[in-house]
Amino acid sequence: MTRMTPLLERNEQFARTYTPVALGLPAAQVIVVTCLDRRVDPAIVLGLKLGDAPVIRNAGGRVTPAVIEDITYLAFLAEQLFGGQLADDRLFEVAIVHHTQCGTGFLTDPSFRHQAAEATGLPEAALEASAVADPHITVKADVERLLTSPLLSPKVSVSGHVYDIATGRVTTALDARYP
Ligand SMILES: [Zn+2]
Repeated sequence: MTRMTPLLERNEQFARTYTPVALGLPAAQVIVVTCLDRRVDPAIVLGLKLGDAPVIRNAGGRVTPAVIEDITYLAFLAEQLFGGQLADDRLFEVAIVHHTQCGTGFLTDPSFRHQAAEATGLPEAALEASAVADPHITVKADVERLLTSPLLSPKVSVSGHVYDIATGRVTTALDARYP
């Protein structure tokens, strides 16, 4: 008996009626980058079904070097596997979704950040880089960061959105753009 036990029971229910999803082009042709916050589950908030879209989550939903590496690899993989099937030679859109009331907002306070760095051993600069105080500002910064990365495929577009925890509504801050 672990804390996973009830979840594994739910999985047993799930597996009973499960149909495997074939390796193919994701239905939505979107990669979602968002926060790991439990209140921001893109499957629920954006109505994604199994197999619809890859999702990359970290603290804040920030565009870190690791996120850029994942997107770069996914673009390569999509090109290799499905390059011939795509009519307009475009691979996918990366939708960056930041949210209100993000827990990373505490990290904008220098003394809290310093304390967190001391206690965890994490670099203070990395903690500062993950902070989302105003999601409208950070999402625009991260769209720019990804669009200007030399690693980003020219066949990948990037858009920015804000999820409001209070209303459940996602609004677009920046429409999809190619590098
Ligand atoms: Zn968050």
